[in-house]
Amino acid sequence: MIKGRLHSIQTMGLLDGPGVRTVFFLQGCPLRCIYCHNPDSQRIGCGEEITVEDVLNTVKKYRPYYGNEGGVTFSGGEPLNQPEFLLEALKTLKREGFNTCIDTSGFGPPEYFEEILKYSDTVLLDIKSFSNTGYLEIAGVGNGIFNKFIKTVKNSSVSVIIRHVMVPGYTDNKSSMDKLINYISPIIKQVERVEILPFHKMGEEKYTELGLNYTLTDVPEMDKTRALGFEYYVNRVSGKFKRMEKMKKEVFDQVLVDKWMSESHLFKNLTKDERTNISKLIEFRRMNRGELIFKSFDRADRLFMVCNGKIKIYENTLDGKEQIMYIYSEREFIGGLNLLRDTDYIYNGECIEPGVIGVIRKEVFDTFLKDNPEVLLRILKMSFERIRLAEDMIRRLTTTSTDVKVAALLLKMIPEFGHPSGSSIILHLSMTREELGSLVGLTRETITRKLGELKDQGIIELESNKTIIIHDANKLREISEA
Ligand code: SF4
Repeated sequence: MIKGRLHSIQTMGLLDGPGVRTVFFLQGCPLRCIYCHNPDSQRIGCGEEITVEDVLNTVKKYRPYYGNEGGVTFSGGEPLNQPEFLLEALKTLKREGFNTCIDTSGFGPPEYFEEILKYSDTVLLDIKSFSNTGYLEIAGVGNGIFNKFIKTVKNSSVSVIIRHVMVPGYTDNKSSMDKLINYISPIIKQVERVEILPFHKMGEEKYTELGLNYTLTDVPEMDKTRALGFEYYVNRVSGKFKRMEKMKKEVFDQVLVDKWMSESHLFKNLTKDERTNISKLIEFRRMNRGELIFKSFDRADRLFMVCNGKIKIYENTLDGKEQIMYIYSEREFIGGLNLLRDTDYIYNGECIEPGVIGVIRKEVFDTFLKDNPEVLLRILKMSFERIRLAEDMIRRLTTTSTDVKVAALLLKMIPEFGHPSGSSIILHLSMTREELGSLVGLTRETITRKLGELKDQGIIELESNKTIIIHDANKLREISEA
């Protein structure tokens, strides 16, 4: 049986292909992009083993969420670097009726390209540069293989979404954008739209942890508004502007109006008309893992609402450790009380699972509150519940038994991260072991050891780095109450 090597899984992604998708990030990449924010996914030959059957079993659980457009995406690392596994998985998924997508830089053994594309509905094609020299400078390899991939794409019927990471001083100019348009011209009929992704430095710390050299320390992050301006330019010139706008509108319509607003803690009791009116005052934007939404001492001049994805709230303790206080997910809001009290944030808020966030400015929110006093009551009620959560956390931190801490933590994760599967509960945690441990004041080593012990007792199963299956919640309850 062909086995793949997995870096991680995201079960309900919105950013890697059309609709809601389960994303398998495969381990290993032959490139060394200077801006790579996941250098831990580059090493070839490591990562967790996974079979095509594992993939199928996972995605079957999430099929009801995919709707007409969503499905399964293989990303990386570089998925083409595991061509046999990828091909087998795509074939199986197509046979089972799933929509498939690969998120690739176009580097892998060319003899597999045609077959792989035959079983892919969409390709998210990451273009590093527009010449051999540019590829060598940005990705550490020439563009020969990429050119072969683009030729194969041209001869296939796959739809393409182009992505380009824009780094200040490299391609943030009109002439580079013209070169990009020229570079994709052979496949332009298949291109849905072009996305310009602004360079950020969220992966910088990982380089230090891995003992790697990060060469962009002195390069500033890319200004998001400028990057958006270039995105508009490229899509307009290449005739994809309407599709780009449609996609942006779809994010808004799908996530906010149809689902999120009617379920959000703040707005669910408003009438449909009231919700439509307030939705016009909210600015929606995508957020990426590792993105800092706000930090301690920032002025709290806006309310953040999580439409999709997850945000961790944490502070750095005096000994330099990260202490996570809460994890906020769909339907929750952040900063309500700060807005009312006109105070600064005292914690940091960082995205741990990519998604969409709604932002509403204080002056707009104040006006809205005057007309909707019941929302004020809801903010106070939620704030009170959060005090209860903080008390809970203090109790967890001061409990001396690590067994009790870990069992209580897993139970606590169920409402936010759990999905029932037969008599078990699958926890898809969007956090590392270190982050998980931080919620109960344990080191990565200790929590890993304790989870291993629970696994040996058959109480849980460790499916992947971020997926835990609880087989015996009653036993966990017994331990947590001991
Ligand atoms: S292709 Fe992606 S995973 Fe590979 S080095 Fe570049 S950014 Fe990193």
